[in-house]
Amino acid sequence: MSERPLIDGFGRRISYVRLSVTDRCDFRCAYCMPLDMAFLPKAEVLTLEELDAVASAFVARGVSRIRLTGGEPLVRKGFLELVQGLSRHIGAGLDELTLTTNGSQLARFAEPLFAAGVRRVNVSLDTLDAARFRQITRTGDLAPVLEGIAAAKAAGLSVKLNMVALKGLNADEIPDMVAWAGDQGFDLTFIETMPLGLIEEDRTDRYLPLTEVRARLEETLTLVDSPERTGGPARYARVAQTGQKLGFITPLTHNFCESCNRVRVTATGTLFMCLGQEDRVELRDLLREGGPAALDAALDRAMQLKPKGHDFVIERREAAPAVSRHMSMTGG
Ligand code: SAM
Ligand code: SF4
Repeated sequence: MSERPLIDGFGRRISYVRLSVTDRCDFRCAYCMPLDMAFLPKAEVLTLEELDAVASAFVARGVSRIRLTGGEPLVRKGFLELVQGLSRHIGAGLDELTLTTNGSQLARFAEPLFAAGVRRVNVSLDTLDAARFRQITRTGDLAPVLEGIAAAKAAGLSVKLNMVALKGLNADEIPDMVAWAGDQGFDLTFIETMPLGLIEEDRTDRYLPLTEVRARLEETLTLVDSPERTGGPARYARVAQTGQKLGFITPLTHNFCESCNRVRVTATGTLFMCLGQEDRVELRDLLREGGPAALDAALDRAMQLKPKGHDFVIERREAAPAVSRHMSMTGG
């Protein structure tokens, strides 16, 4: 553990960082971003060297897990070089370097990622039906994603699937997804839609509480709650019949903030202390002007800004997003 750990104003130690490496994406998932999403000019996005500097600053302060995300991390040019560089911290402060991906490019990246020390990937997969996949992602194809998932498994990566539960879109497929993930040996986590950034539709139309998902699964399966906690919003259960692990990310129906151990950095270097609040510190210009020392000092200031919790209740907001930035901006 670092001699100078990052402890916030409520005594929570920050050990986990999600770092967005790009705001760009080859998909336009309807719950995530509008079809005509405007992406950032390149000069505003952290360079690969800056991404490395930011990640390394956190590792020096005791962060032991880093998740690279986006946008779609695998569309960022030089992504593999970034991972290869950061892998020097694995076993030297960093316990885990992972990524969340939509899987579209995973077939070509799976082996080199494993070779670079990555052992786990989270792949977002909301449906196993090709037509629905296109409907949800709007620009994506299912086949390359399934190939990518198979390549990840073959390369020795452990795969966790993330499925956003969407009323009227994939709710009826949930038991099939559980069965498929179980056959493949993949953990599966369900996510509720979160009110982040404006999109075309009203999210309340698609909001499916995971209490309902779980109740429906329990009509045929026995789910046993697991005490496992990761400092985030996920709660886990095991399927008694198979031992399969299922996760439920319910930011809207449960409060998880008291044990929160994480912060997020956007592709432009904005450090957000909470996914659902605006408290932030701009790291990019500090780093460009003051170098690593300025960055390190900013982390201490940031700790005093971490809020106690978020306010995400979707019904109370009707269509309005809780925060104006999209998930692809903050990094999911
Ligand atoms: N592009 C990668 C992917 O899709 O896995 C990584 C970034 S994406 C923003 C990370 C996760 O956030 C995905 O699992 C996605 O389904 C989820 N997500 C995006 N917008 C969301 C929203 N408004 N509510 C809940 N989950 C969301
Ligand atoms: Fe892209 Fe991921 Fe957002 Fe879908 S959820 S649009 S894949 S960033």
